Amino acid sequence: KNPFIIPGIRNVKIESQLNANYSFDNFLEGDSNRLSRSAGLAVANKPGGTSFNPLLIFGGVGLGKTHLAHAIGVEIKDKFPEKTVLYISAEIFTQQYIESVKKNTRNDFIHFYQLIDVLIIDDVQFLSGKAGTQDVFFHIFNYLHQNGKQVILTSDKAPVDMQDIEQRLLSRFKWGLSAELHQPDYETRISILRNILYRDGVEMPDEILEYVAKHIKSNVRELEGAIISLIAQSSFNKREINIELAKQVVEKFVKNIKREISIDYIQKVVSDYFQLDTETLKSKTRKRHIVQARQLAMYFSKKFTKASLANIGSQIGDRDHATVLHAVKTVDNLVATDKQFKKFVEDINKKLSI
Ligand code: ADP
Ligand code: MG
Repeated sequence: KNPFIIPGIRNVKIESQLNANYSFDNFLEGDSNRLSRSAGLAVANKPGGTSFNPLLIFGGVGLGKTHLAHAIGVEIKDKFPEKTVLYISAEIFTQQYIESVKKNTRNDFIHFYQLIDVLIIDDVQFLSGKAGTQDVFFHIFNYLHQNGKQVILTSDKAPVDMQDIEQRLLSRFKWGLSAELHQPDYETRISILRNILYRDGVEMPDEILEYVAKHIKSNVRELEGAIISLIAQSSFNKREINIELAKQVVEKFVKNIKREISIDYIQKVVSDYFQLDTETLKSKTRKRHIVQARQLAMYFSKKFTKASLANIGSQIGDRDHATVLHAVKTVDNLVATDKQFKKFVEDINKKLSI
């Protein structure tokens, strides 16, 4: 029994934050997701009562992690309406935590999370490098786990590949089941497309569907985007859907997928923003404003590329991985404490996200 519970809080209804559109019914099954999907169903049938605790779903962008995480929550709410389910992204969780520290309500934050029966945290890779949030999550996790509550996590990486997550937390992640979402095979891509057409009551020649499914392979979100764009083009512009139009749309999407931000590009954007040249950014200068710009370049390289810390360091004037790690932490801290600095981060983030 938790002595810290605020009297009456047990009666507070906690909004699940679930999206009912993300159900198991419309999460189409294929070889690429069978394991994750059935593990998800098993958990939904017996939350906290299987060895899949935590259930960690991992895989690349747009492969259905968020969808599946919601589907599990929605199914649990349906089967066990009295259970308190909460879906939250690791990013919001982190913000709430930082806020609670500022407002001196850290204990309330913890107690709130201890009330949850099924806690779903999306994109836990976001916790990397955030020691304070990891620490509080570690305690919440232990409490929930010990009390037979279910924890569901998603991540863009397998636990072994996660960087800057404390060992003790990583070991918890590995306690249950880590299930991977792979890129969908051709058959699954076709059924996902058919499902969208069916949902929207639209017909399209097989030839077109096949063309789209053949060319967009790595990401379900892009696949959906392309077909939705085709539907829109044909209905709003009254254009006939033919292979030509499909080609144009697919080309646009495939180009977008390929565009990946490079470390060079990030350094250039950061330098331009502070009106420095990239040589200065990479130099040994310890002038405060240049150090900050340098740290921001490292921070965004970590955020937007898949490069290792060592690699990021070596490309910014031969610095080591510890320096990069320190830069990432410093930026996180400054964002939380320094309004002006936070504005820098938001501005640059916007420039890089366009
Ligand atoms: P992630 O969180 O892995 O980046 P999302 O869960 O946001 O990916 O999925 C991207 C889009 O693809 C969503 O609109 C989702 O509904 C759809 N999607 C992914 N996998 C499937 C699937 N197996 N069946 C139907 N739709 C899917
Ligand atoms: Mg997601």
